[in-house]
Amino acid sequence: MRLDINITGFELKYPKFVNQNQIMQKDSFPKFRALLKKSENIVIVTHFNPDGDAMGSSLALYNYLVKLEKNVCVITPNEYPEFLHWLPGHKKVIPYTKNQKKAASLIAKSDLIFTLDFNNYSRLEGLGDLLKDSQAKKILVDHHQQPDTYATLMYHDVKACSTCELVYELIVGLSGKKIIDKDIAACLYTGIMTDTGSFRYDSVTPETHLILSGLLSTGLKPSDIHAAVYDTYSESRVKLLGYCLSEKMVVMPEFQTAYISLSEKELQRFSHQKGDTEGIVNYPFAIKGIKFCAFFSEGDGKIKISFRSKGDFDVNQFARKHFNGGGHINAAGGRGNVYDLKKTIHEFLNLLPIYKKEILKK
Ligand code: 5GP
Ligand code: MN
Repeated sequence: MRLDINITGFELKYPKFVNQNQIMQKDSFPKFRALLKKSENIVIVTHFNPDGDAMGSSLALYNYLVKLEKNVCVITPNEYPEFLHWLPGHKKVIPYTKNQKKAASLIAKSDLIFTLDFNNYSRLEGLGDLLKDSQAKKILVDHHQQPDTYATLMYHDVKACSTCELVYELIVGLSGKKIIDKDIAACLYTGIMTDTGSFRYDSVTPETHLILSGLLSTGLKPSDIHAAVYDTYSESRVKLLGYCLSEKMVVMPEFQTAYISLSEKELQRFSHQKGDTEGIVNYPFAIKGIKFCAFFSEGDGKIKISFRSKGDFDVNQFARKHFNGGGHINAAGGRGNVYDLKKTIHEFLNLLPIYKKEILKK
C-alpha cells in the first residue's frame, strides 16, 4: 500500500499540523499515517452550499482514499451547484438533504471523519448534530480563520490559498507525488482556481504555482477545467448578472463600497438555480477605488450575505461580529439577523460610517 512509502523531510517542509492550542506539531505526520492505516470506514464532509474548493478538496481526497482501497464516501449538507457536476467521483456524493438515512448510517459506521474547508459545526446545518454525536476520530483540513477544537488532528493554515492546496500537501506527504493522477489533479486544480479568483489573489504563492505545475504534468488541460466551471452559465444566469450590474448595484464612493441585493421575487424572475449568484459579489471591484463589496440575497427563510474586501479591512471579523458569519480576511459570508432584506441592508449601511476609516486605510 502506498501509505508505507517513507517520505523523509516532509514533516519539516510542511509543519502545518497543529494541536488544539494551535501549536505546531512535527510528529503528527506519523500519527496521521497510523490513524489512516487503521481506519476502514471513512467519511468526508464539507460545508453547507459547497463551492469549488469544498467539492474539489473532498473529491480529491475521496479519489485518493479509493486508491488506498478504503471504504470512503463524501457527504455534503445540501446539494452542490451544477457547474461542479463533472468532478471525478461526483456521482458518488451523498447530499444529506436528499438522503438523510443513508448519511446518518454511514456516519454512525465510520471510524474516521475528515471535515474539509470549514471549521465549526454550524457550517453543516443539520448534519452538524450527527457529527457531534459521532465517536469517530475527526481530522480537520481547512484554511479559514479561528477554527473550533473538535478535531483529533488539524491540518490548518490560514495562509493556504485553498483547502485543495492543503489536501495536495497531505496526499504528497503520505504517498508521494506519483499517486496524483489526472482525476485527483482535476479536483485539486478546480478548488485552487475557484478559491483564488483564477490565481489572482495574494494568497497565491510560488508554492501554489509549483503545485499547479505538478497537477498540469498529469496531462490536465487548464482550458478544460476553466470551461467546465465558468462557461456553463444558462442564458437566464447571464441575464441575472446583467440585471444586477445595471439595475441593482449601489456604489458609494465616499465609503469605497458597493453592494447588490436580490429579493426572492427577483431571483424567481430569472429562474434562479443553486450557484447562479456565486461570484456576482466580486463584479463591483472592477470599478476603480472600490474596496468593499457586499451581496445580499433572500430565500430559504434567510438573508444570505457575501462580503469581499481589498486590502486590510477584515470582513471575517465584520461578518462574525454583525452578521452571524465568518470566513477569511478578504472573503466572508453571513446571514441577516432578521428575515428582512431591507432591514438587513439598512443595518449594513448604518455600519459603514463606523468602519469607514478601516475600509479606506490601504
Ligand atoms: P461566500 O460569500 O462565497 O458564501 O463565502 C465566502 C467565504 O466565507 C467562504 O470561504 C466561506 O466558506 C466562508 N463563509 C461563508 N459563510 C460563512 C459563515 O456563515 N460562517 C463562516 N465561518 N464562514 C463562512
Ligand atoms: Mn476554501
